[in-house]
Amino acid sequence: ARRAGGQLRVRRFRQRMLDEAQERVRLFSELRRGIEQGELRLFAQPIVDRDRRVIGEEGLIRWISPQRGLVPPDAFIPLAEQTGLIIEIGDWVLEEACRVLTSWKDDPARRELTFSINLSERQLRADDFAERVHRILAGHDISPGLLKFELTESVLHTDLDRTIRMLGLLRAEGVFASLDDFGTGYSSLSYLRRLPVQQLKIDRSFVSSVVDDAHTAAITQTIVQLGRTFGLQVVAEGVETEEQFQALCELGVDAFQGYLFARPRPVSETLAGS
Ligand code: C2E
Ligand code: MG
Ligand code: MG
Ligand code: MG
Repeated sequence: ARRAGGQLRVRRFRQRMLDEAQERVRLFSELRRGIEQGELRLFAQPIVDRDRRVIGEEGLIRWISPQRGLVPPDAFIPLAEQTGLIIEIGDWVLEEACRVLTSWKDDPARRELTFSINLSERQLRADDFAERVHRILAGHDISPGLLKFELTESVLHTDLDRTIRMLGLLRAEGVFASLDDFGTGYSSLSYLRRLPVQQLKIDRSFVSSVVDDAHTAAITQTIVQLGRTFGLQVVAEGVETEEQFQALCELGVDAFQGYLFARPRPVSETLAGS
């Protein structure tokens, strides 16, 4: 009986592996088709200063699938990274960002706002990455200094010299860079010193316990000081309550993003004239 039970478990396990593999194949073909059909949407969420004035927006991708409805990035970006679709997606996001900045250009209320987009490590690793960025920027009459690329600490784990070179090329284009989800990966101080980034984004996991946990508050303070030392702007993400906002202000955070101020909404709603 024990042996029969074991065989059953093996069979169930194999079936689950098969199901997962099939689901990945389905997701991939739907996504590839969705990209062609124009089902991707860029949403955006404001970033505010200490006076709650909007200073920029972050672009956050969504996929409106006829089969699946609104699909959040965590449900398809990893697959896009594994399969290379992220290159195409990344180009599209950059095009959208340029379109937004173009629409803001002649609007006195918006022409100084920055627009940030998220980059995958895989995009940065592509040999022609800087060229692609250059080509897309050249197709738009915008100030590249208003564009920011957000990268996670994962870009530091492999081939740091290459990452530094790529970020240097971007900087030469005029584009700024930001370290996203800061504090969740492991980045040593020596990395940070060598990395040409201009902004740190404190991860939401710190923000959510900064009020209740003295230890988290101390870490957050250290990150702020670290930012100061390297001359970086420090942004807190995922701010949901007034108490968090006050605490972060007192710790010296420069800018804020979170549901307290606004939720992400379709980028079309941020265009000038809308
Ligand atoms: P991220 O860049 O760290 O973005 C912040 C995430 O926190 C977003 O989730 C945002 O909607 C969410 N958020 C903002 N404020 C709050 C808040 O007050 N409370 C809570 N609970 N959440 C908040 P989202 O939009 O689901 O994006 C998840 C991740 O997907 C992003 O994390 C980013 O790493 C990735 N991503 C999004 N768009 C793109 C893209 O165009 N390209 C790439 N490569 N990755 C993207
Ligand atoms: Mg981000
Ligand atoms: Mg983040
Ligand atoms: Mg994140």
